[in-house]
Amino acid sequence: MPFSSLGFSPTLLPAFLRALAEKGYLAPTAIQAEAIPAILQGRDIVGSAQTGSGKTAAFALPLLHQLAHAPSSGPRHVRGLVLVPTRELAAQVGEAIVSLAKYLPHRVKVAVMFGGVSINPQMMNLRGGADIVVATPGRLIDLIDHNALSLSSLGMLVLDEADRLLDLGFGEELARILALLPARRQNLFFSATFPPAIEMLAADMLQAPLRIEVRAEPQAEPEIVQRAIEVDPGRRTQLLRHLVQTEGLSRVLVFVATKHAAEIVADKLRKADIEAEPFHGELSQGKRSQVLQDFKLKIVQVVVATDVAARGLDIAQLPAVVNYDLPRSSVDYIHRIGRTGRAGETGLAISFVSAATEAHFRLIEKRQKLSIAREQVTGFEPVELQAFTTADPSGTGGIKGKRPSKKDKLREAAARSASESGH
Ligand code: AMP
Repeated sequence: MPFSSLGFSPTLLPAFLRALAEKGYLAPTAIQAEAIPAILQGRDIVGSAQTGSGKTAAFALPLLHQLAHAPSSGPRHVRGLVLVPTRELAAQVGEAIVSLAKYLPHRVKVAVMFGGVSINPQMMNLRGGADIVVATPGRLIDLIDHNALSLSSLGMLVLDEADRLLDLGFGEELARILALLPARRQNLFFSATFPPAIEMLAADMLQAPLRIEVRAEPQAEPEIVQRAIEVDPGRRTQLLRHLVQTEGLSRVLVFVATKHAAEIVADKLRKADIEAEPFHGELSQGKRSQVLQDFKLKIVQVVVATDVAARGLDIAQLPAVVNYDLPRSSVDYIHRIGRTGRAGETGLAISFVSAATEAHFRLIEKRQKLSIAREQVTGFEPVELQAFTTADPSGTGGIKGKRPSKKDKLREAAARSASESGH
């Protein structure tokens, strides 16, 4: 079924089709095909859908559509509200809505509001009103308390990732917000799981909802090319620089083990004229948002991140990830490489493997039933002793299968700590 037969009005359809084509969405995903016609008819929806199903566009398109047909209600009156659990999701959803609204014949103002940053710019932003607000519940309450917006003429409410909203303890804020909304409104409710608390919330909020259940999209299974490059730890930054420059990697998410490493590696890359930024939990929220935004806009080419900070990032069309430090577990490996090749795009995942980490990487391969050929890059061939026990591509006679002696291990530990402090 094409996007054109979901029920969009002929005055808006061309603008949507153009925006969808630009995003590379050729046909609706299952949840889009099911939810959009029902929402356009004014029904409430309860969608059981995971991230990756295409649920954002499933609610964003009809939200934009309904607003275009409803009269504007004056300053500070919000017409569409999307509640999300995290600031990262708020930013992503806001951006998705803006990109889908891009060619509409009228301007749609989308305001993204989340905590952890100063409230004043957000209040200024709301002064002229906003058609759609995407917000985390805590900050929304603050804004309401500051009289920065009114929800009394809201037409559509979207709860995105409702289960996470409750998990994160937003139950009370949610109840307060719901009490401020007009009784006559359309509700779209999305959640990955439906424990009793979520069922109750849905039953409370929704009027004769259409229930939609979608498994992950089978055709969205991404193709990820996985590579492993052997390199001594002390030369990884140079190799990374070399790869960025010679392989035409337009944007790369690099994973490191510590905040300190994120800072140092980003700094070294910057000194080599590569636009690189660290991304970790100790940065201010403002800084993190800025980095993410610049990365999406391709102002920043390389983001050097820790696992925790990178979790939940959804940057469409991220061409490559690099495991500068290997992940601790095979599950983390899958999480990391899943950052590339999203929604049917081809992605590239490169892991740096050294003599010291070879055994660990082999364990990851075994757990995930992978077999990734080891490569070497000319000029960056590893020289550290403790040879690779697979083939010996250098032809210099590796110590195949030799077990390290106690002295070998001490030497190796010393080399490792020396190279780690040097990055
Ligand atoms: P979501 O579940 O909304 O987070 O979307 C998951 C991913 O699928 C995002 O990267 C979207 O950009 C992408 N996506 C959403 N709808 C479509 C579509 N109809 N065709 C291709 N990709 C899509």
